[in-house]
Formats: sequence, structure tokens, C-alpha cells
Amino acid sequence: MRYRFEIEDERDIESWYEAYDVPDHVEPKKFIENMLAQFNAGLHPGETARTMVSFELVGSPKDHDWEKQNIYTIMRAGQIFDRHKCKRCNVTGKRHGISSDINIDSKFKAKVYRQCDTSLAHQKIKEERRQRKEAGIL
Ligand SMILES: [Zn+2]
Repeated sequence: MRYRFEIEDERDIESWYEAYDVPDHVEPKKFIENMLAQFNAGLHPGETARTMVSFELVGSPKDHDWEKQNIYTIMRAGQIFDRHKCKRCNVTGKRHGISSDINIDSKFKAKVYRQCDTSLAHQKIKEERRQRKEAGIL
């Protein structure tokens, strides 16, 4: 996942931003602290030690973050499957048998739901439209 880090140096004049792709298994704070520790250990003349001020996730990942919904595998109409739901955008799908692929439910068959980032963006627009309608703006 991509994070944006706010960095400052010891002169404390102003901070700036640097973005990096952080591997999923690494904590973003640890990632930047290690990177800055290396930088600070090898300072050139005129350079001052840097520290991280803050960090935030940039954009949203393309892959859905699936979570299994049922405890026991479902057997229905000759099919064996597990229901899944994306933790971020709530799109639902099924994993059949021992397949590793999740088939997105027909309710979300539009192309926009295939990726998590576009799904989230689409749902945000839909929700804003719904709220405008509710408020009588449309
Ligand atoms: Zn999603």
C-alpha cells in the first residue's frame, strides 16, 4: 500500500512529503523509521537528521479486502461455497469449492465493482446523489 509521509529535519524550518509503497506485512511507521535511521546514519556535510511527522494512506488499493461471512461452508443446490464481503467497499461474492477466486455477486456485476478503488468511488457518488435527492436538490 502506498503511504504519504510528512518528514522534517532538525532545522525544523518546514516539513515536506514523500510517498512510498510499503509492503503489506510492514507497519508504515516502522518502514519510514528504518529508512530515516539509515539516512541519518550516513549524513553528508550540510545534511541534518530527519524525522517523520505524520503519515497517511494514499489512494485506495485495487484489490478487494475479502472477509469470509459464513462460519461453515454452504452447500446449496449442488454447490459448495463460502460467502465473502469486502471490508472496505461491501461488495459481496462467493468462493466456490476450493477455488481461490471469488466470483462477485450479480448484484455487483457492473465493471466498476471489479476493483475496490473504483467500487468505492462509484458508491460514494451514488450515496451523494441519494442524499441530494433526499434533500430535494435534484
Ligand atoms: Zn472492495
